[in-house]
Amino acid sequence: MSIKENILYFDEQLKNTPCRLVGVSKTHPVEVIKEAYDAGHRLFGENKVQELIDKYAKLPHDIAWHLIGHLQTNKVKYIAEFVDTIQSVDSLKLLKEINKRAEMFGRTHPINCMLQISIADEETKFGMTLKEAESLVQSEEFRSMHYIRLTGVMGIATNTDNEEKLRQEFRQLRSCFDRLKETYFFANNDFKEISMGMTSDWRIAVEEGSTMIRVGSGIFGARDYSKK
Ligand SMILES: *Cc1c(COP(=O)(O)O)cnc(C)c1O
Repeated sequence: MSIKENILYFDEQLKNTPCRLVGVSKTHPVEVIKEAYDAGHRLFGENKVQELIDKYAKLPHDIAWHLIGHLQTNKVKYIAEFVDTIQSVDSLKLLKEINKRAEMFGRTHPINCMLQISIADEETKFGMTLKEAESLVQSEEFRSMHYIRLTGVMGIATNTDNEEKLRQEFRQLRSCFDRLKETYFFANNDFKEISMGMTSDWRIAVEEGSTMIRVGSGIFGARDYSKK
């Protein structure tokens, strides 16, 4: 199927759900992203800062760019002017820097941020525990930030085809979200996103309450890292 057909396919699949599609365009050139754009898609995710900057410069500015990969504090300044959402916030220190840079750029809209929660087995995957997330949102410093908006949580499940295991990890993220929502964001309508599910497991993620699936190869085809 063409990229356009893939976009239309996902639009159709998600039509009666609360879930949106993030087109994960990492490693793919701008011409390819433009095909998805021309099919009406406006929400894209990248995992590397430099690649995000290059693509932002070359593509139309009504794209909402989501950073979905690990972000080093010293690189926040390169994306703070234009990024729509940073899904991979994993520390208070990083959030403080995002808030500071958003203020310096005088943004009219706050930067949307999501807390990355660790749900997978692999210890290499970034993310916070629920406890760490709770202490972050309870801190004085967090409450005094006005240039960021916390919109929800994000998680990356274990790379496995064990459906029960995936379901369990998605449920864990969902329950983290519920806990934070009920305890700290009950009256806050901005806090509403659960970003989970990728090409191989998005159907399960949607069944478990995902509001944002991040699909790369399922739209753009396999990634070829050797070309870089
Ligand atoms: C690459 C990536 C995806 C998309 O992976 P696919 O399997 O190609 O759909 C989703 N989320 C994150 C954080 C990624 O880095």
